[in-house]
Amino acid sequence: MSEAITTIDVQGKLPKVASGKVRDLFAVDDNTLLFVASDRISAYDVIMENGIPGKGALLTQMSIFWFNYLPKHVSGLRTHYISSTLPSPISSLTTFQDRSMQVQRLRIIPIESIVRGYITGSGWSEYKKSGTVNGIKMPAGLVEGQKLPQPLWTPSTKAELGDKDENISPEKARKIIANPTIAARVEELSLQIYEAAAKHAESVGIVLADTKFEFGLDEKDEVVLVDEVLTPDSSRFWPQDTWEQNLGKAQPSFDKQFLRDWLTSNGLKGKEGVKVPEDIVQQTAAKYREACEKITGKSA
Ligand code: ATP
Ligand code: MG
Repeated sequence: MSEAITTIDVQGKLPKVASGKVRDLFAVDDNTLLFVASDRISAYDVIMENGIPGKGALLTQMSIFWFNYLPKHVSGLRTHYISSTLPSPISSLTTFQDRSMQVQRLRIIPIESIVRGYITGSGWSEYKKSGTVNGIKMPAGLVEGQKLPQPLWTPSTKAELGDKDENISPEKARKIIANPTIAARVEELSLQIYEAAAKHAESVGIVLADTKFEFGLDEKDEVVLVDEVLTPDSSRFWPQDTWEQNLGKAQPSFDKQFLRDWLTSNGLKGKEGVKVPEDIVQQTAAKYREACEKITGKSA
């Protein structure tokens, strides 16, 4: 198997706009960005020393699948996706192949637009304390991992690099967005996209427990779906066949379970500078591949 690519070397050919835990962004021109997913992997908010070969390409292929799929299933949806071809300054650099997409550069709406169909993670923590999720009253007696009566829009703040996003009430999110028409559209689209995606995921044996979207505004203030979408990095994918038997406890994560289990059992949870052993790398790579193949219906 090929080496993991954890540093995206653009050889000075395009200006770098930003670098996140997994992705690097470059400016192609004033209106276009190149979105590049590296093979870096993080667990418990820490990036591992070595990456997962092929992961960046698998994430990008999943996002591209959804950018093609969703506008056909959510009426009026526009996305920032332009193409998977490489812009000319870097077209011969193999590092970028399969892991990059060109997208329309937009003004980002400063919230993380999360939708939850199932109760888990920070939603579950809040529910145990107060019977609410993002301040929204929930029925009594829910167990961890249970399907919610209906999918919920549970936005969070979009923190600066290094800070933690914070769950907020829909009301507070509407205030941050400021324009009521735009806020209503963000909520409506988020729920519609979640429903369409959860249906597709279910048809291939995956529970889409929750997911995070970001939206931007074009020059006419139209709300456009941006960022990566519906990958295991921005969503919780659970295997459908073990969901029911795991109700009431933490569900196995489709992709990072091997890594998380290995970190925990070796006392490395949250530690910096960890090198992941080869067998865990291979098992994790196989899980990402399986998720990608199931979602896209193509061999990856
Ligand atoms: P992390 O995801 O590692 O926690 P992050 O979200 O800051 O950190 P990335 O996800 O790697 O970093 O970077 C993507 C950044 O690009 C986000 O800040 C996102 O809001 C922004 N972005 C996504 N799509 C567009 C777009 N079409 N135009 C402009 N900015 C975009
Ligand atoms: Mg991000």
